[in-house]
Amino acid sequence: MYWLRVGGGVVRRHSAAMKQTTLAKSASMTGTSLHEGHEVTLTLKPADAGSGYVLVRTDRDGARIRVHPDNIQEVQRRTLLMENGVEVHTVEHVLAALYGLGVDNCVIELSAPEPPAGDGSSKAFVELVREAGIIELYADRPEFTPTETIEVGDEKVSIKVEPNDNGLVVNYTLDYGVPFMPRTTVEFAVTPESFENHIGPARTFCLEKEAQMLQAMGFGKGANTQNTLVVSPDGPLENSLRFDDEYARHKLLDVVGDLAVTGLRLSARVTAVKSGHSQNQLVAKALRKQYEESR
Ligand SMILES: [Zn+2]
Repeated sequence: MYWLRVGGGVVRRHSAAMKQTTLAKSASMTGTSLHEGHEVTLTLKPADAGSGYVLVRTDRDGARIRVHPDNIQEVQRRTLLMENGVEVHTVEHVLAALYGLGVDNCVIELSAPEPPAGDGSSKAFVELVREAGIIELYADRPEFTPTETIEVGDEKVSIKVEPNDNGLVVNYTLDYGVPFMPRTTVEFAVTPESFENHIGPARTFCLEKEAQMLQAMGFGKGANTQNTLVVSPDGPLENSLRFDDEYARHKLLDVVGDLAVTGLRLSARVTAVKSGHSQNQLVAKALRKQYEESR
């Protein structure tokens, strides 16, 4: 392995082994999207080395939206990417699955503006990647290690990114300030094994008291108690937890998905306290900027 040091960041290149990856073949699924409530077909397709993740809207003449922090639009409760006026909502769970399983290049084709909700986690997308299979490409996989710590937030809500020797580690602390959802900290090194078994299956959630208000505001048109954990003082309505700390694991999953928007394979340690998409996105933008200034 050798190191390329330029400016504020380090791009690590491995002398052997670590090659970029893509899917061996295409795989599709159809379902209802979470916020917009559309019936939508999502197809994951192989892509060339160096192309990263690209969203394609088949219902908009094949318009392409690059997965890049420049295309982030600020909206509440999800991550939305838009390029040339064409948008895709709620990209974080499918991007988390691709990043988590080690897929570097992929075309994500959609027949509507939002992926299917699946069960509210990344599980359906993990299964799709497994169905397609992963292959190595003839190109090295660079990893980006930030050399300057990035931190956003305040004393209550924060997310910090520091350099790490090997891969991405995320530590997340959830604290909703309600007795039935106690302060919980989870930490995982993000590997295909940990993502598939411990992070990817964690489902999205909202508090029961928020649910009606959110739907009145136009969120969650396709949401129900089977694709969103609706949390009451007695636990999820009409559902049960997969992990005692499932809520915190899902917030960690969202961090992985939001950092995947950087288009970088990261060697970084992330410490997040109560952070949501807006803070995660600021960090993704800062990481990409650091990377581009280092080239
Ligand atoms: Zn989420």
